[in-house]
Amino acid sequence: MIAMKIKTRFAPSPTGMMHIGGVRTALYACLVARKNGGMFSLRIEDTDRYRFVPEAQEDIIAGLKWLGLEFDGEPIIQSERKDLYQKYAKELVDKGLAYESDGAVWFKMPKEGEVRFKDLIGEREVVFNLADQKDFVLLKSDGFPTYHLAHVVDDHLMETNPVIRGDEWLPSIPKHILTFKAFDWEIPSYAHLPLIVGTDRAKLSKRHGAKSVGEFRKDGFLPEAILNYMALLGWTPPNDKEILSFEEMVKLFDLKDVHWAPAVFDVTKLEWMNGEYIRKSQNSNLKTQISNYLKDLSGGALEHPTEEEIEKVVPLVKERIKKLSDFVPLTDFLWEKPEYDQSQFKKLNIKNEKEVLEKVLEKLEEMEKPWDAKIFEETFRKLAEDLELSASQMFQLIRVSVSGQTVTPPLFESIQILGEEETKIRIRDAVEFVKNSPVA
Ligand code: GLU
Repeated sequence: MIAMKIKTRFAPSPTGMMHIGGVRTALYACLVARKNGGMFSLRIEDTDRYRFVPEAQEDIIAGLKWLGLEFDGEPIIQSERKDLYQKYAKELVDKGLAYESDGAVWFKMPKEGEVRFKDLIGEREVVFNLADQKDFVLLKSDGFPTYHLAHVVDDHLMETNPVIRGDEWLPSIPKHILTFKAFDWEIPSYAHLPLIVGTDRAKLSKRHGAKSVGEFRKDGFLPEAILNYMALLGWTPPNDKEILSFEEMVKLFDLKDVHWAPAVFDVTKLEWMNGEYIRKSQNSNLKTQISNYLKDLSGGALEHPTEEEIEKVVPLVKERIKKLSDFVPLTDFLWEKPEYDQSQFKKLNIKNEKEVLEKVLEKLEEMEKPWDAKIFEETFRKLAEDLELSASQMFQLIRVSVSGQTVTPPLFESIQILGEEETKIRIRDAVEFVKNSPVA
């Protein structure tokens, strides 16, 4: 027997921006196709004209591209195929298996017997009693098909096998199987993917931090991390590995290892994984990722930080950021003058800050350039001692003065990026600030 080429598809409804939950469906379908040298297509299910959102189609395509889930060929747009569905609906009417009523075409459900079905996920066997089923609409009065007709017609014509879709479609299986039979078409295999729920086990929503792909992108998540995390919602790789590249997933993925129990989406775990991806990224690669991210955010033009500046900072922040967006608050002070806040100085608990800062400035003036890390540290430890301050008070005072922040990348390295002159200017600015807003 000649093996059939594996064809899968992702068939989102453009009723809103591409949602994170859809990523898993698209990913699994893509993995199955790639693993088998098959084909992965995109089908836009836009036949529900009331819920149609015009920007959604573009957003879905952009989201898939950003994630690296490239589909083969051109997307199939259902609203452009109205005639086709009408032709097939008529065929069933002509066969006596469907009928027209109230301007719609209805499928005639047999009133007895059963439909047996075995899902690819967990080898679930489900038996549907036909006595519980009702006739259903194939073609609506506006001439557009329902999901049921469009699914059967399109997946037949596209030779989809297996059909990979969300669990919420499982109850519709008798409709689909009987429609395939009515046309005398071969019934594909189905994989109904487990529901994704939030950490409280309720249906996944915004409240769980589940947003659109575009929003995760804006928040500074990496596409590789999102794919990796979503892959594990319902699938356990055979080697129990947690960090997997797309290529590894292609190698290891198998629908038989997907569970049907609901999968829990935990945004803190996704953040953790994103941090792992940032840490294992090569510095030069991370530089490009951050640079592209910042350019994206600012709409193209970006004066600071330049790629060169980002490159210098990357090794300092790599261990400290979980998302690309964390780069901004942590490093902003390097390209922009700090805005001081009295409370940050107050927290240091130093009485005569102005005098201390003036002493700091004196020492900096005396220090030989380029400043040396070891000498810098020794000098200010000694100064702290002389002024009866702790070393941490001293270094924190310098930190707040040069950055306006209590948390920064390592102090000396930050100062090196700022440069000796700018550092001294900032200490002077801080002297002025504490003079004008005494901490008292
Ligand atoms: N448009 C359906 C949905 O978004 C697709 C289901 C399918 O993949 O067949 O749920």
